[in-house]
Amino acid sequence: MTTHIEGGWVVAFNGTTHEVYEQGSLVFEGDKITHAGPAYTGPADTTISAKGKLVSPGFINTHVHTAGNAGDYLLLDMARNDYRTANYMSFAAPLKGTMTPPPAAAVAALRTFTFLHAMRNGTTTIIDVGGLRGDYDGYARLVDDLGVRVYGGPPFRDRDTYMDAQGRLTYDENVAVGRERLEEAVDFVKNYDKSAQGRLRGLLNAAQVETCTERLLREGKDAARQLDVPIHTHAGGNLVEFQRIMDEHRTTPIRFLADIGFLDERTLIGHGVFTTAHPWTHYPFGDDVKTLAERGATIGHCPYKYAKMAMTLHSFQRYVNAGVTVAIGTDTYPMDMLGELRWASILAKTTDGNYQAGQPRDVFNAATLGGCRFIERDDLGRLAPGARADILVIDLDRLGSLVYHDPIKALIDAGSGRDIDTVIVDGKTLVQGGRLTRVDEEAVYARAREAVRHYWDAVPKWRWDGAAVERIIPPAFPVHRRH
Ligand SMILES: [Zn+2]
Repeated sequence: MTTHIEGGWVVAFNGTTHEVYEQGSLVFEGDKITHAGPAYTGPADTTISAKGKLVSPGFINTHVHTAGNAGDYLLLDMARNDYRTANYMSFAAPLKGTMTPPPAAAVAALRTFTFLHAMRNGTTTIIDVGGLRGDYDGYARLVDDLGVRVYGGPPFRDRDTYMDAQGRLTYDENVAVGRERLEEAVDFVKNYDKSAQGRLRGLLNAAQVETCTERLLREGKDAARQLDVPIHTHAGGNLVEFQRIMDEHRTTPIRFLADIGFLDERTLIGHGVFTTAHPWTHYPFGDDVKTLAERGATIGHCPYKYAKMAMTLHSFQRYVNAGVTVAIGTDTYPMDMLGELRWASILAKTTDGNYQAGQPRDVFNAATLGGCRFIERDDLGRLAPGARADILVIDLDRLGSLVYHDPIKALIDAGSGRDIDTVIVDGKTLVQGGRLTRVDEEAVYARAREAVRHYWDAVPKWRWDGAAVERIIPPAFPVHRRH
């Protein structure tokens, strides 16, 4: 079946760069694009009008935690001062022995919500850097049902983090447990890679650079090579991690990963903020940015989350100019890729003190082509004959684009996930008129709301000082709840 999207601004890829066609056409047959760019006059079974809209390649969101639990990032607008900006450790680490796994229904509800929320805000390929272990059949079924494209695998590490009774962070090393988790991850890839009609792909995921021993990182990278899959780890994410790696390995996290052979073209680094380039590290020895460029690794830049914690890359432009492959991710809520593009652009300008930094071209490339390198896909992140039909149709009129001279600049200046009208993956329409076509959104929201309440209520049970959420993160104003 041939579908013709006509009359919109079409972002087509010419083999080297994106180009924009006014009143252009995009045609796809089944799951593949057959025509992208100038107006098409051939036959089509279905014609969709994109008048006043932008027809864009779907975004590769390189940082989604599908576990979606409260601890890691719903609490992030307050960080404990003694762990400075290391938000995930300062909140998510429980008192040892107090964390009980959440009910399966809550996990499933939140997982569904996370997928759905990412999709309708412009993500067509999710890089899952933090799913929960267990119920892998359910995970694969969900990817199949929702129709989205996913690279994922259960995270592994051999150092779990806990708080002691005084709120001090401790790392509890267990090499045997780490190895079991790596084996579990390898089994996941063997069992599920190319399932969900080819849309679920395997990825190895060494959780964080400092929660893995050097041996586990080496074994993880070796396994990824053998399986021929990409690998991810969080590194350069916060100052505590930076210092721990300095203490243990006497070098920066990026240099350490390069030295042990972990960094190459198939490696995705979550964040990569704290490098020799960042002023807070006060470490002018070596050049991590150059190392990243030489090794061909990709940085999963999550501008908004980091901006909320008063941090950013130093800088997006410096990394891009040095030849580093920078991709974009959301990490936390909202998972709005259009918002992230704007933050990436603006933060580059303010960080460099240069309004010519953070050009729309570079941030758009990061969210599309940039995310394709480490997964070795030249059929994603672009609209061109032969590429996968992963497409967004974005309402430009609503965001006030008519006063702009360039629709891409309008998009980055003013666009939001709520302007996304249509999301297509593998030629199948998953969002239409801003609504999911395959699931009852209200039902998903109701279940997720219930699940989130469970997570919030459980916080005093695992928190080192037994504090409730209201005390840890006081609301903006007193809130009078009904329950
Ligand atoms: Zn993360």
